[in-house]
Amino acid sequence: MDMQTSLLDRLFESGLLIDMGVEGLYGRSGEFEDVIRRFEALIETFATGDAAEAISFPPGMNKAHFEGSGYLKSFPQLAGTVHSFCGNELDHMNLLQCLETGQDWTKGQEATDIVLTPAACYPLYPTVAKRGPLPVKGGLFALQSYCFRHEPSNDPARMQLFRMREFVRMGTPEQVVAFRGEWMERGKKLMAKVGLPVEIDVANDPFFGRAGRMMKNNQRDQNLKFELLIPITSVAKPTACMSFNYHQDHFGKTWELTTSDGEVAHTACVGFGLERIALALFHHHGLRVADWPTAVREALGYSA
Ligand code: ATP
Ligand code: ZN
Repeated sequence: MDMQTSLLDRLFESGLLIDMGVEGLYGRSGEFEDVIRRFEALIETFATGDAAEAISFPPGMNKAHFEGSGYLKSFPQLAGTVHSFCGNELDHMNLLQCLETGQDWTKGQEATDIVLTPAACYPLYPTVAKRGPLPVKGGLFALQSYCFRHEPSNDPARMQLFRMREFVRMGTPEQVVAFRGEWMERGKKLMAKVGLPVEIDVANDPFFGRAGRMMKNNQRDQNLKFELLIPITSVAKPTACMSFNYHQDHFGKTWELTTSDGEVAHTACVGFGLERIALALFHHHGLRVADWPTAVREALGYSA
């Protein structure tokens, strides 16, 4: 049995994750959720003083905004759309007939105006652009959202529905690059507090197809994406638990987002993979929170 299946089985046995019969789709126990809540509180202690504006979006976004974002150009393989039954009574009878005879009942489903959010920051850019130019100090936002990516896997760290906490900075190139650098340092300190071994490395997104290969190289050559990696199911291939992305003027141009003096805004985002971090904690410190090292428990606010 490989390490991925074995960790997943142990998580099911312990009840921390709950099998829902689909790879990458899991229930979470109260204890698992509590770890995530406490880790988010720890993140907050590193961000106090930043005065980020908190915004919550649901895990679905406006289809027009999704189309405008360019996501389908880069990652068509990961996108999830929301479809619904929009037919009449005859269509309904056909649907039930399909169900009864084991045929595909989804063919008649029609696209709605909602697409599943692929990354917490996607609904933010058009929202902020609508407000007009950014203030002189730029923009800083705190988000948390369930995200969907169609990447079924038996690796418990690769889910189809998972949560991302993000900080997003908008402003001049200097402002957003400084923000990203600051969070790389904070990320290392944060993980050290909870006893997790990390390395930070340059990375690329899984751009689709042959054209995607060029985009991957481009992203790496320009140091646009870094990941904070922690071993979870493989020592040789540690898992990205945080990412630090510099989008240059991509979203600024796309959404006509401008700085206070009318320049196209640059943006960067820092994302925490909350389930991955919880899994890293369970992998490194054991499946029983009560047995975790005292320093780790203290950092997460558990009573001694
Ligand atoms: P990977 O390279 O592992 O596919 P990514 O670099 O595409 O991840 P990002 O798009 O940067 O991931 O997403 C931000 C964060 O969300 C990642 O650093 C990771 O912690 C988390 N994440 C991404 N995909 C998943 C997933 N399928 N399951 C759980 N967490 C994920
Ligand atoms: Zn982002």
